[in-house]
Amino acid sequence: MTKNLQVMKFGGTSVGNATCIRRSAQIVAHAAKEHKVAAVVSAMSGVTNRLIEAAHHAKQGDREAGKALTEALREQHFEALDALVQSPGTKGPVQERVKQILAEASRLYEGTALLRELTLRTLDAISSLGERLCAPIFAAALGELGARGSAIEATELIMTDSFHGGAEPLPDATREKSQKRMGALLEQGIVPVVTGFIGATADGALTTLGRGGSDYSATILGAALDAEEIIIWTDVEGVLTADPRLVGDARTIPEISYREAAELAYFGAKVLHPKTLRPVLPAGIPVWIRNSFAPEKLGTKITAKGRSIGGGVKALTAIRDVALISVGGPGIVGVTDVVGRTFSTTAELRAEVLLISQSSSQNDICFIVAKAHAQATLEALRKEFAQDLAHQVVDHIAMDPDIAIVAVVGENMRGTPGVAGRTFHALGKENVNMIAIAQGSSETNISFVVSDKAVQTALQTLHREFHLADAS
Ligand code: ASP
Ligand code: MG
Repeated sequence: MTKNLQVMKFGGTSVGNATCIRRSAQIVAHAAKEHKVAAVVSAMSGVTNRLIEAAHHAKQGDREAGKALTEALREQHFEALDALVQSPGTKGPVQERVKQILAEASRLYEGTALLRELTLRTLDAISSLGERLCAPIFAAALGELGARGSAIEATELIMTDSFHGGAEPLPDATREKSQKRMGALLEQGIVPVVTGFIGATADGALTTLGRGGSDYSATILGAALDAEEIIIWTDVEGVLTADPRLVGDARTIPEISYREAAELAYFGAKVLHPKTLRPVLPAGIPVWIRNSFAPEKLGTKITAKGRSIGGGVKALTAIRDVALISVGGPGIVGVTDVVGRTFSTTAELRAEVLLISQSSSQNDICFIVAKAHAQATLEALRKEFAQDLAHQVVDHIAMDPDIAIVAVVGENMRGTPGVAGRTFHALGKENVNMIAIAQGSSETNISFVVSDKAVQTALQTLHREFHLADAS
């Protein structure tokens, strides 16, 4: 319905202070001359963390943390507003709105401290305050630049289930609500400035989409409004071939596929919230990742097909802060319930398993979990297999925390023979020892485990081997 619409999302650092908000608002105002534009904004950087931290203090009965934070937020947001907006006619109503939201904050913190109880529903109400404070200021900043902005809370637009803390959108209801609420504004050339991260259940309870969820808000709304494209404005220049802190000549990839982007989002290159691309898959809406601090650069375009390049390898990524757990010994050969019991145990702990490898000799199963889950996983497995350990059916259950996963990602690796060979040959020459290896049958990702000390060498070696620094 909304032809020619761009949905633009600005993350926390892109709205981190008055200067950043002005720069981001300029991007919107500029685009609004040629397109219909809807903006989605995060909280000013750090605000959500502080809101949540104070909520946990309040739960302990601390009445001061909420008060102190509310005061600090008042100052921070008024200061930004003062720097951005001169006309009293615009400033006054925004000040009133900020005050109202902060009054809600005070009540939420007081209630929590009084009851010493913090339900997920209340935590959602508290965590959402940063976005709710930011949107009216951003809309006013647009006004100051000669564009017309109108702040909207996404509780009016995005309908979700009632899974507080990580709600899922209900697409049909969201589509209906969003088109109804935003259609006329967009037709008149007004830029709706929507709070990212939040939605509401059918009976009006505020929900959040999970930490970092503003990216997801942008694609949910983009899909609901049949946007032409979605632009995620952030503080990095798109998706890079590798982490530039580890690989000096890492560069921005001009175009990648949804699938590659999703592999990278799950695998350490946390540019996007992992669910971000889901809503745009059916309609194939392109999603850009661009740097609001360097808007002259084009960033990365994420599309259904991506753009194929020679060797098929697009990017490298590493996940650190993980541990390898192995369950094994010659006694487990042919014991068919070891695998099942191992992963029922991790499931019970809700420990996400990032990689699994078992060789056909069946002597050993190893897998990777986040370091935060490692000790608990180890203990639970030792309990689960206590009898088997005693009878030496299972010979060891061990953990190695000094490892990392490195992944080689690229959609066109599928059916390209030799990628694994080149990977392992190049690493062998540099004496990087491979502890475990996994390639899913999707063939878009080869992952392997190396010692944490070897991560940088592994990344640099493969970056060179696959010529990732060369422009494609
Ligand atoms: N402000 C929220 C968070 O910090 C959502 C977001 O920034 O995407 O998690
Ligand atoms: Mg983010």
